[in-house]
Amino acid sequence: MKALDELTFDNRFARLGDGFSTHILPEPLDNPRLVAVSPAAMALLDLDPAIAEEPVFAELFGGHKLWAKAEPRAMVYSGHQFGFYNPRLGDGRGLLLGEVYNDAGEHWDLHLKGAGQTPYSRMGDGRAVLRSSIREFLASEALQALGIPSSRALCVIGSDTPVWREKQERGAMLLRMAPSHVRFGHFEYFYYTRQPEQQKQLGEHVLAMHFPECLEQPEPYLAMFREIVERNAELIAKWQAYGFCHGVMNTDNMSILGITFDFGPFAFLDDFDANFICNHSDDQGRYSFSNQVPIGQWNLSALAQALTPFISVEALREALGLFLPLFQAHYLDLMRRRLGLTCAEDDDQKLVESLLQLMQVGGVDYTLFFRRLGDESAAQATARLRDDFIDIKGFDAWAERYQARVAREPDQDQARRKARMHAVNPLYILRNYLAQNAIEAAEGGDYEEVRRLHAVLSKPFEEQPGMERYAERPPEWGKHLEISCSS
Ligand code: AMP
Ligand code: MG
Repeated sequence: MKALDELTFDNRFARLGDGFSTHILPEPLDNPRLVAVSPAAMALLDLDPAIAEEPVFAELFGGHKLWAKAEPRAMVYSGHQFGFYNPRLGDGRGLLLGEVYNDAGEHWDLHLKGAGQTPYSRMGDGRAVLRSSIREFLASEALQALGIPSSRALCVIGSDTPVWREKQERGAMLLRMAPSHVRFGHFEYFYYTRQPEQQKQLGEHVLAMHFPECLEQPEPYLAMFREIVERNAELIAKWQAYGFCHGVMNTDNMSILGITFDFGPFAFLDDFDANFICNHSDDQGRYSFSNQVPIGQWNLSALAQALTPFISVEALREALGLFLPLFQAHYLDLMRRRLGLTCAEDDDQKLVESLLQLMQVGGVDYTLFFRRLGDESAAQATARLRDDFIDIKGFDAWAERYQARVAREPDQDQARRKARMHAVNPLYILRNYLAQNAIEAAEGGDYEEVRRLHAVLSKPFEEQPGMERYAERPPEWGKHLEISCSS
């Protein structure tokens, strides 16, 4: 275990120079205090979670103090927002404090979100509010616990600093961690500003730091792009299988590592709805739940365009062509597991599709359906679940097919089926109304609910006695919460 001042910094991105980021100091928050800390993220830095209670912790992550070896910098990037190219974005309210190595030799970017204005703030105040910081904190760590790759969150620091959104709120800072904060938009920036030298420098940096195995391939850039396509296909398959809606899949919010990144108005589905739009500001539904798949491919094409100086158009097209088949294979594999199926049959895809169609019209809770399906034998579980569906006849027909399918499985042991299914079907999910309850308590100065919810979601597959209320469907008020981009 390390003390806070024992972190080892090696700021490789900062060394790329002023063409890539701008040195700038965090603007401190008034009266900073710890709202929540993630023990799992602390462990990644070899830090003891208990030290988060010391005042110096809130001072460091509330912008008052800095390590001597930190080198806070705002990164420049651009990107496609809602389909339109925005030539200049960049860290408008976040700073890369530096890169830290842990004892295992892993490297983590420390990025302080809400740290004040930068040259990329445009009209913004450089701040993040408590509400959105708590949402990102809870989601990052919950996604990770579900096995869905994501940026991590070390802590949320609250404050008395007033921040104006639709109404007056309080400023907060979130310490985000990821092996890299390079986005698709970084490559787009250097491509569209016609800076081939810098683009090459960025490409070589990313290859060496994050895709070293690609350097051994005859065409390293192509190997890297293929890898990015593959990782995104797998990531989005996980989002779709677990009902995660990102909300703002602009290319500046897409990580080159294929991890869930920069999600604001995200949501996990309560009732299954393929057309669900979680971002209140997304009038056209560009980023609706089911659109995440074609948008994932669209975003990869935008990245491909930016990589045309390095890779032939032909090869880029071919690599892009891998996305859909890979997505489908991963998705079907995950859904088979969620249904308790261990071997593959040709009709499994149809079995999944018809279930989702029945759920779509039925208003069926997406998470609890799969959890309950694993509680008992296929026959018992479907008999119990049928009342949740509006098209009961349709569901009965599906249940018959499902039971016949389960009967062809090699392992018929019920205890093992349950263990297998519960290991992939969470009981607890970050529902919007649960986040909302925790946020309201925190805005009133009580951080217990955020901490408890975070703890429950860190073991989503494990039944936790006394925590039954976190596994419930949303109450009426919590079903259609409007989450906007303003954060
Ligand atoms: P986001 O919607 O958080 O992905 O942000 C899109 C762009 O707007 C990024 O360049 C952000 O840095 C910038 N931005 C968002 N909110 C603010 C803010 N309050 N102040 C300054 N820049 C912001
Ligand atoms: Mg962003």
